[in-house]
Amino acid sequence: MPYQSPISPGYSWYEATAGERPEYPVLDGDRVCDVVVIGGGFTGLSAAAHLAKAGVNVVLIEQARFGDGASGRNGGQMGTGQRAWPEDQEEEIGRERAQALFSIAEDAKRHMHDFAETHGIDIGYRPGQLSVVHKKRYLKDYRKHAEVMAERYGYPHISFMDRAETAQRVGSSFFHGGVRDTGTGHINPLKLVIGTARVAAENGAQIFENTKATRIHKVGDRVVVATEKGVINADRALVAVNAYGDAKLEPVSAAHVMPIRSFIGATEPLTGAMKDKLIPGGESIDDSRFVVRYFRKYGDDRLLFGGREAYTADNPRDIARHIRKQIAEIYPELSDVEISHAWGGSVGITMPREPFAREVMPGVTSLGGFSGHGVMLSHFTGRLYAEAVTGDNARLQHLRDLKVPAFPGGRSFRKPMLTLALTWYAMLDRL
Ligand SMILES: Cc1cc2nc3c(=O)[nH]c(=O)nc-3n(C[C@H](O)[C@H](O)[C@H](O)COP(=O)(O)OP(=O)(O)OC[C@H]3O[C@@H](n4cnc5c(N)ncnc54)[C@H](O)[C@@H]3O)c2cc1C
Repeated sequence: MPYQSPISPGYSWYEATAGERPEYPVLDGDRVCDVVVIGGGFTGLSAAAHLAKAGVNVVLIEQARFGDGASGRNGGQMGTGQRAWPEDQEEEIGRERAQALFSIAEDAKRHMHDFAETHGIDIGYRPGQLSVVHKKRYLKDYRKHAEVMAERYGYPHISFMDRAETAQRVGSSFFHGGVRDTGTGHINPLKLVIGTARVAAENGAQIFENTKATRIHKVGDRVVVATEKGVINADRALVAVNAYGDAKLEPVSAAHVMPIRSFIGATEPLTGAMKDKLIPGGESIDDSRFVVRYFRKYGDDRLLFGGREAYTADNPRDIARHIRKQIAEIYPELSDVEISHAWGGSVGITMPREPFAREVMPGVTSLGGFSGHGVMLSHFTGRLYAEAVTGDNARLQHLRDLKVPAFPGGRSFRKPMLTLALTWYAMLDRL
């Protein structure tokens, strides 16, 4: 039987092709440590790995298997910069801070490659990303973005594509144009999860799967985290639960980081003319919708296609049907394509689409809300947390300084209000 995660739907192609992976134990008994990390995605695992490498005594607990949240199941697109374009961030936080955040994101990109290389993790990196425009009126913004990135941010890797070039590179005339970024790429996210867990364990972190934190509280100046079979007593804690958190465990993060469910389908390997026509340059692609569609030809020439349906409780078969329909809009030749794997996960978003980094109670830091842009940022942010614990707070402070407000509506109305807002944006995408 394929593994079925208790927290995210479907069986991913990444899981199906991961081969043997180590299982980590359930925490059974109490622990005393310097840092307890809750959440075994990129953020938590990277924090644990870097803390352990620095000699810090760290315990990490994950309620399911590592990567069962967003980190092992995502689109693998690294992107460039933060989720919001720096020129848009400038309006809110000024040029200097937008530049600092852009530099952090470039550091994150380098970190991804260095970490993988240093620790011998094959992350399946492929270069190139196309960001394509589904409404003609967005074209001028994309053209301007390429100019701004080169002239103001010293990033020369983004070039504007007209309609003909876009059609050739995508293998479809569905889009009006876009930009091509040769300074980034895409990865196999589950391989990074598995590799990071290994690095954490090899460096002495005590890491546990199928171990859920049920309570975080303070006893004097210590942080105490309860689980079903043991209590962890630490100097400090990192809450890295992202979209999988709940208000009972930690209400501040839950008020600021909200889940949107996103689904991916992998086709059977493409063959013949379609294999050659689709994305001949091997880039990953994201489009200009608010409810982004993201896809790439990957692995054994499958199309991995992601789209977002925010709040459905679809079962995997429905995911496949839905994804096939979205594929056929762009590639009508694939309207009958077989979807071999279909799965989903929850993306953690914040109101301004900026990461949430905050001390939520003394000694307890929460990190998350990368808003669909966390493949490269979350792993690096875990490292920045480790850096801060071991004495250098400077880079993490840039994220802490972001003024991310809570979603409106209070505990009872937050989710329905978000649902309404997102339905509205999804509708605008179609107009
Ligand atoms: C389908 C999908 C596609 C995506 N595509 C992209 C993309 O192409 N590019 C991109 O940049 N970003 C993408 N993202 C977002 C990206 O995956 C995330 O930003 C990133 O993985 C966040 O990592 P994280 O460690 O913060 O959170 P997660 O990976 O979600 O990890 C949080 C972990 O906390 C655990 N947890 C929660 N509560 C508890 C508890 N009480 N006790 C113990 N453990 C707990 C959860 O089980 C989970 O494993 C996508 C996300 C999804 C879901």
